[in-house]
Amino acid sequence: MTAQGSSQAGNNLDPWYHHYAERAAGLRASEVRALFAVASRPEVVSLAGGMPFVAALPPDLVVNAMERVMREQGPVALQYGSGQGVPALREQILDVMALEGIRAHADDVVVTTGSQHALELVSKLFLDPGDVVISEGPSYVTAMVIFKSYQAEVDHVPMDEHGLIPEALREHIAQLRATGKTIKFLYTIPNFHNPAGVTLSWERRIEILEICRANNILVLEDNPYGLLYFDRPAPAAMRSLEQDGVVYLGTFSKTLAPGFRVGWALAPHAIREKLVLANEAAVLSPSSFSQLVISEYLATANWKAQINTFRGVYHERKNALLNALDEYLPELTWTNPNGGFYVWVTLPPLLNSKAMLPRAVKELVAYTPGTAFFANGDGQQNIRLSFCYPTPAEIRVGVRRLATVVRDELDL
Ligand code: PMP
Repeated sequence: MTAQGSSQAGNNLDPWYHHYAERAAGLRASEVRALFAVASRPEVVSLAGGMPFVAALPPDLVVNAMERVMREQGPVALQYGSGQGVPALREQILDVMALEGIRAHADDVVVTTGSQHALELVSKLFLDPGDVVISEGPSYVTAMVIFKSYQAEVDHVPMDEHGLIPEALREHIAQLRATGKTIKFLYTIPNFHNPAGVTLSWERRIEILEICRANNILVLEDNPYGLLYFDRPAPAAMRSLEQDGVVYLGTFSKTLAPGFRVGWALAPHAIREKLVLANEAAVLSPSSFSQLVISEYLATANWKAQINTFRGVYHERKNALLNALDEYLPELTWTNPNGGFYVWVTLPPLLNSKAMLPRAVKELVAYTPGTAFFANGDGQQNIRLSFCYPTPAEIRVGVRRLATVVRDELDL
């Protein structure tokens, strides 16, 4: 749709409406955004957002790192830096990725302003209008906003409890090719999927990489949650199996704090240079200050113990959410994630997750309707519940309220 083709309201309120580039049409506030503003009131239990529980990070760890950076490297921290990122941090990022089976060279790491910005840069490098990005259905909403802003189409391949289904991927590729579409990459979140909560099995990682290799499709592996597992680690990263066909994205947002806005891309050697140029064009250099503080934190604090602390917090919250669902909403079905932040719930056939949301907010509980995670209007019978931010007690209250809404809607 062109900018001119979208809502009249925008036309009336914005004097520059007819000046926007066509790609800006993809940047529209979702219908549920206004409701979420209401849902941020303290009396509402929000199971909607994906905010990491940063209060589990002792402030002193950050303060000490900041202080040392400013005393010892103040002028560097306050200055522009390299468009590829601080060399010492890029080396340390190799240690973080090694925990998920990745062996790489620091030359191929590009530090970005959160992994969100890496998604933007990769899209900028690869997507022309009309290109197709294949992703899981459902998929991470703000990645799809980027793909659409580059006027690409998102094609959803279904998943089950073991993640993306390889056979379905084969069929989708064949169908897309038969209609003359250009597939640019597969965007996948193999671990503790946002929003589905499932993890791609090891066998499927191998098979999906083979399919993509055979079809000359780049894999964009987005892995913000991999280290936040509960009972057992996720299988090794897809990047550990394949170097040349995978761009791997990581971030410090969930294992440390999102306020630093530091993530990274590990790119095949050939792509890395373009990524650095795109990064420089966009931001000159990622924040020197944030990178040096994180580098100091990694060098001096027990960061692995801190990740364990986060894992414990989120595990407890996931158990609280699943226990509350068992108790108050046994008629629904849901995924049981072994890590990350999200549970994907399926409602009974008569209910519509988007239509039910205003009623839920009135009952002082918020969730994200499943439709937000599909580019094609699917997901009406799904909701995403996040357990990362509210306490276990709040989660219980939230699910009890949600149960009242579901019962009322079903007229029970
Ligand atoms: N990818 C996924 C799947 C996410 O859930 C998020 C954050 N919610 C991001 C990328 C972006 O994270 P950041 O920019 O903070 O690294």
